[in-house]
Amino acid sequence: MNDFKENILSGRVALITGGGTGIGREIARTLGNHGAKIVITSRKQDVLDGAKKEFEKETIECLAMASDVRNPEEVEQVITSVIEKWGRLDIVINNAAGNFPALIDKISYNGFKTIVDIDLMGTYNVTKAAYTAYMKAHGGSIVNITAPFEHWGVSYQSHVAAAKTGVESLTRTCAVEWAQLGIRVNSVAPGFITGTEGEKRFEAVKVENANLLKGTKQDMANAVLFLVSDSASFISGVCIRVDGAVGVDMLKIAAV
Ligand code: NAP
Repeated sequence: MNDFKENILSGRVALITGGGTGIGREIARTLGNHGAKIVITSRKQDVLDGAKKEFEKETIECLAMASDVRNPEEVEQVITSVIEKWGRLDIVINNAAGNFPALIDKISYNGFKTIVDIDLMGTYNVTKAAYTAYMKAHGGSIVNITAPFEHWGVSYQSHVAAAKTGVESLTRTCAVEWAQLGIRVNSVAPGFITGTEGEKRFEAVKVENANLLKGTKQDMANAVLFLVSDSASFISGVCIRVDGAVGVDMLKIAAV
């Protein structure tokens, strides 16, 4: 639920990577409920089909296409199919990511590389393909889902922090290089979000949820909706932390 008008994205087409679960699923539903046609991708077709069924009950038009963001050819294929079917691709949400908590010396070389490949390279692959196939000629809006790790050291998260900080940098550079083409590129950095895979994984290492306020998947989706809407038409190259102030809480002392 939010206060935005129902039809603010009508006529637009939005691709959400990792759109079958968690925050991505809520972003997809929210953009769909505000008029966009939705394309969701991830590696598991059955999960995507489940989400598509749910969206269709809410009269959202949805394509569900399995593809791995690490594979540029698969990504290009998805984008080509979307443009063939619906003739456009106005919005891209780079949400797909991996995560597991681990201290630096305990992560395998492959584990660290996998996170960089999914989060950073995956964002680059999808962004480049959308730019080349559609946005370069028509403009568009891209939102990268990151994490509020850019300015702090965060234990158990060296791999994710490195990858997401790379995504923040890519966000700013894309925004600058493509501004004159009418392409806006921003990021949303969630804090700990209740009811997500991320939250579950961190219970295992008893990392305290240090959010100063409680965040929901809908809070993430609302921030993304604002950024892709025409109300944000002069906003590009920024990161909105949607994290209840955890990203500026240097000492991370939970409120008592
Ligand atoms: P999630 O449910 O695990 O979402 C990640 C999605 O990415 C899944 O749908 C997964 O589907 C997909 N994915 C993973 N690897 C992929 C690949 N190689 N190619 C394509 N899709 C892939 O987790 P979430 O908690 O909702 O997180 C969503 C985003 O928010 C992520 O970017 C995460 O870093 C960020 N975030 C979350 C929190 C939090 O508290 N939850 C905090 C900070 C940041 P498949 O397994 O089917 O591929």
